[in-house]
Amino acid sequence: MAKQPMLKFVDVKRDMPPKRDAEERSHDFDEIYAEFAKAKAAEQASRCSQCGVPFCQSHCPLHNNIPDWLLMTAEGRLQEAYEISQATNTFPEICGRICPQDRLCEGNCVIENSGHETVTIGAIEKYITDTAWENGWVKPNLPYAERGDSVGIIGAGPGGLAAADRLRQAGVQVTVYDRYDRAGGLLTYGIPGFKLEKDVVMRRIQQLEAAGVQFVLNCNVGEDLSFQAISGQHDAVLIATGVYKSRDLQAPGVGAQGVVRAIDYLTANNRVGFGDTVPEFESGELNAEGKRVVVIGGGDTAMDCLRTAIRQGATSVKCLYRRDKKNMPGSMREVQNAEEEGVEFVWQTAPNGFIGDPVEGVKVQKMHLGAPDATGRQSPEVIEGADYTEPADLVIMALGFMPEDLPTLWDEGALEVTRWGTIKADFKTHETAIDGVFAVGDIVRGASLVVWAIADGREAADSILSYLNEAASVAAE
Ligand SMILES: Cc1cc2nc3c(=O)[nH]c(=O)nc-3n(C[C@H](O)[C@H](O)[C@H](O)COP(=O)(O)OP(=O)(O)OC[C@H]3O[C@@H](n4cnc5c(N)ncnc54)[C@H](O)[C@@H]3O)c2cc1C
Ligand code: SF4
Repeated sequence: MAKQPMLKFVDVKRDMPPKRDAEERSHDFDEIYAEFAKAKAAEQASRCSQCGVPFCQSHCPLHNNIPDWLLMTAEGRLQEAYEISQATNTFPEICGRICPQDRLCEGNCVIENSGHETVTIGAIEKYITDTAWENGWVKPNLPYAERGDSVGIIGAGPGGLAAADRLRQAGVQVTVYDRYDRAGGLLTYGIPGFKLEKDVVMRRIQQLEAAGVQFVLNCNVGEDLSFQAISGQHDAVLIATGVYKSRDLQAPGVGAQGVVRAIDYLTANNRVGFGDTVPEFESGELNAEGKRVVVIGGGDTAMDCLRTAIRQGATSVKCLYRRDKKNMPGSMREVQNAEEEGVEFVWQTAPNGFIGDPVEGVKVQKMHLGAPDATGRQSPEVIEGADYTEPADLVIMALGFMPEDLPTLWDEGALEVTRWGTIKADFKTHETAIDGVFAVGDIVRGASLVVWAIADGREAADSILSYLNEAASVAAE
């Protein structure tokens, strides 16, 4: 008879790893995940062919030295990768998260254009800087020596903050004025937290404060403090106020309850994310939960509203856009994300009015694309007799933003504006028509991108420093 193997009794309790608390286990997970992410970033970075014609770099508004930091990442030299990446970008981890890379660096990657899918530049940029934060490599930009001159910055969005960082590093006394209760501009209250986590923005503000930047919040320039008071108090002024006037629809029923503006809807959602009490959210006015939601518009703001409504628990989320998918102004990646999350796009449709108060539906006109206009873009035309009603309990208008009339609001007629109301400023030096007053970001470009605001802010800081140095040398003569 075959010999039976001897059974070994195991003291189950003794052979089990000791019980550990959740924090310790989650630390293990973080370590495993960090190793995985590091390997993944290195694998992606090593796909860069170091082509020698870095179209990625020339199509990045900051001309980031992408090939070099990809090489460092591929070799596991993350601190060096971080040093290279932060040398040209004030907020690399923010750009890595929210730049429309498909239109900028990644869309121009040589590998992408040879049909082998882009190197994921944005994700690697985010990874490098997040790692830098975790390891304490990100330090406040303290000046080597203080200067006696001061600059007032109106607007604490990415344009104003990028300039503040660079000016402060040069030793200038910097005060940033903003009408909101938190700094960050659209990084804080416009862009939703699922795209850009708010602690990522707030730690940057804290870093600027630690470097000595002064923030004067809840200060609406033109109301709480005059523009003249600010310019009288500082040696130079930077205007970085962005564009906030919503483009409205002129249609019957537009004032009905439940027809709201995108900026109000997104701001409320972000405030709730911060833990603020928002009465319009509590009352349901700016909350999509359990509602049939229709968003009007086809840009990135519309995509953010659609994806926020999904997360708030809307029963259905539809997007009305007057052109077709090919002609959407928003990033294709964002459209794809929205589709995957369950948004229904109703192409070539335009609202013609609203039914009910509170709103019950949107009157919709079907459109087709007609002859190309002077710019070569086909104009949408109404298909007669093809109207229908789209049921809705919440309608969000995301039709774009325009600048506020600053010369009137600030009683400053010398501030020249373009016919679109944006401030006239030199594109390289960012000087406005008023001596010592500079302007950057959306208030000059019209609604644009975070990375462009950062690029402008950095450039303007350099111009302001030249201006201050010149003023100092004249005074010394
Ligand atoms: C919903 C939404 C989503 C977006 N998503 C993206 C994205 O994913 N990627 C991307 O690259 N870009 C995105 N953008 C665009 C991007 O946010 C802007 O281009 C960028 O923030 C512009 O920066 P800025 O510094 O010029 O102005 P802002 O970020 O608008 O900051 C201006 C600041 O000035 C303050 N201000 C205005 N007037 C006054 C005043 N009178 N007194 C005091 N303070 C004042 C405001 O309170 C604000 O804090 C998005 C925009 C929106 C609306
Ligand atoms: S800043 Fe934006 S465009 Fe430039 S490399 Fe980073 S993600 Fe690409």
